[in-house]
Amino acid sequence: MSETTRTELRQEVDKRRTFAIISHPDAGKTTLTEKLLLYGGAIHVAGSVKARKAARHATSDWMEIEKQRGISVTSSVMQFQYAGKQVNILDTPGHQDFSEDTYRTLTAADSAVMLIDVAKGVEAQTIKLFQVCSKRGIPIFTFINKLDREGQNPFELLEEIERVLGIRSVPMNWPIGMGRELCGVYDRMKNQVELFQGNDHSTIEVRKVSDYRDPVIREMAGDYLADKLIEELELLDVAGDPFDYEKVKIGELTPVFFGSAVNNFGVQTFLENFLQLAPPPTPRRSTDGPIEPENEKFSGYIFKIQANMNPAHRDRLAFLRICSGKFQRGMSVRHVRAGKEIKLSQPQQFLAQDRDIVETAYPGDIIGLFDPGIFRIGDSLSEGSSVTFDELPTFSPEIFAKVTIKNALKQKQYLKGLDQLTEEGMVQVFRSVGPFEDTYLGVVGQLQFEVFEYRMKNEYGVDILLSRTPFQFARWIVADKVDPSKFRINSTLVKDKNDNDVALFENEYAMRTAMERMPDVKFLETAP
Ligand code: GDP
Repeated sequence: MSETTRTELRQEVDKRRTFAIISHPDAGKTTLTEKLLLYGGAIHVAGSVKARKAARHATSDWMEIEKQRGISVTSSVMQFQYAGKQVNILDTPGHQDFSEDTYRTLTAADSAVMLIDVAKGVEAQTIKLFQVCSKRGIPIFTFINKLDREGQNPFELLEEIERVLGIRSVPMNWPIGMGRELCGVYDRMKNQVELFQGNDHSTIEVRKVSDYRDPVIREMAGDYLADKLIEELELLDVAGDPFDYEKVKIGELTPVFFGSAVNNFGVQTFLENFLQLAPPPTPRRSTDGPIEPENEKFSGYIFKIQANMNPAHRDRLAFLRICSGKFQRGMSVRHVRAGKEIKLSQPQQFLAQDRDIVETAYPGDIIGLFDPGIFRIGDSLSEGSSVTFDELPTFSPEIFAKVTIKNALKQKQYLKGLDQLTEEGMVQVFRSVGPFEDTYLGVVGQLQFEVFEYRMKNEYGVDILLSRTPFQFARWIVADKVDPSKFRINSTLVKDKNDNDVALFENEYAMRTAMERMPDVKFLETAP
C-alpha cells in the first residue's frame, strides 16, 4: 500500500462516526433521527433556526424517504455528512419489531446515543439495549428529550440513570425552566445560552455569555429562572462529576444533553458536541487479536441478514460492518468460514436519500451484500488472510414457543426452512430430550415468531403451529453429568442446535432454586 493510500485510509477512518440510537418506543427516536438527517442535508442555518419551518420540512422529507425505501428505512443504516464528518446512524427497530437483530446491530456501532423521555425516565427497552452497549464498553451519550413537556426534575433523572443503569453522568447543558416555563438551555462547556424566542418558541437564539451568572441570562429569562439556574449549576459544580474524557471513552461516564427533538431545540448543539466526542472506528476483536481500522487489508463481519421482501426471490441482503482497510467494488475477499474467495460485485450502501451501488467504503461504514444464501450471521470476510471476528455474542432468548407442523408430509421442507432460518439468526431452536422430541423456538421479541411463521409459509410452503410456553429464561449448562429429573418443576431440559444442554425456566425463582441446588453446575446466559 502506498503512503498516499495509507494517509487517505487514516483520514477516512478519522472522519467516520458510526452509532446507534437506543431508546424505549415513543421517546422520540424517529423525530431525533430525522432532525439529524436534516442537519446533514438541506437545513443548516447557523445561529438561529426556524424551528416550526424545520419541523414541517422534516415530516415531508421523512415520509418521502419512507415511501421510496419502504421497509428498509426502519431496518438499516442512514448516512450523512456534517462538519467534515461522515456519519452512519444504525437503525435499531422499535418495540413492535424488537428482535435479536436489534442487539446484533448494536455490535456494529462504535458509540450509542441513549434517548430518554424527560417525563418517563429510564424505561424497560432502554435498560436492555443499554446493557448490550455497556457490556461492549462503548461510549454512551444521553439525550433527554421532550423538555417542552412537564417532566421530572433533572437531578432526579440523573440519579435514576445512575441507580438503574449504573453509569455516572455529566450534564453538558442544563435546562432553564422546563415544560411551559422552558425558555432555553445553558451550555456548560461552551458557556453559552440557547434561548427560545417569541411566544410560540418558533426561533432559537444562541448567545455567548461569561458564565451562568451573566446578567444577560437574567435579562432574557427573568429573575426566577435565572436564580434557579444559578442555584442548580452551583450545586452541580460542587457535587456533580467533572467531565472526564477517559471515562467517557470506556462507557463509565455519560455526557448528558437536554433538548426537545420535535422543536429542534438543543439538537444542533448535541450533534456538534457528539461528533466531536464520539470515537471514530475502534479496533475490533478477532481470533488474531484486535484488528486496527487502519490495517490496510480489508476486513469486516456480517451482523445482520435481511430477507428479500419479494417472496419470488430467496435472495437476501447481508449487512457487513467494515472493520479495516478500503473496500472497492469488485474486489476479491476470503469468505473465511466457507474457505473460499468471493467477489464483492453488487454491494449497496445505505444513504439517507438513496440506495446506491457503492464503489468504495471505509471502516465504520456498513455495506449491504447481495446474498444468494452463502452468508451466515457472524461470518467474516477478509482480504488475503483468514481473520475471524469475534464480535457477535448470542443472546439469551426470553420468549419460547413449541412448534409443530400442520401437515406431516411437509416434514422435509419444514426441516430445510428451520435450518436456513436459524442460520440467518431468525430464531434459536431447541429440542427436548424427553421421549417426544418436541421442538422449541426461542426469541427475544414476539415479532420474530410472526416473521418466522410468515416466511415458513411463504418461502417453504409449510403451515406451522406455534404455542407459547411459560418459559422465560434459558441457561446453558456446563456440568460433568446432567440429570434431567432435576429440571421438571417450572423448568425443562433441552438441547440447542450444537447439542449443548440448556435449561428453560418459567420464572426467576425456579432458576435461582436450581442454581442453589446444583452448586457444581455452571449456568451460562449464552452458549459456551
Ligand atoms: P419513537 O417511537 O421513539 O421513534 O418516537 P417518535 O419520534 O415517533 O415520537 C413519539 C412522539 O413523541 C411523537 O408524537 C412525537 O411528535 C413526540 N415527540 C418527539 N420529540 C418530542 C419533543 O421534543 N417534545 C414533545 N412534546 N413531543 C415530542
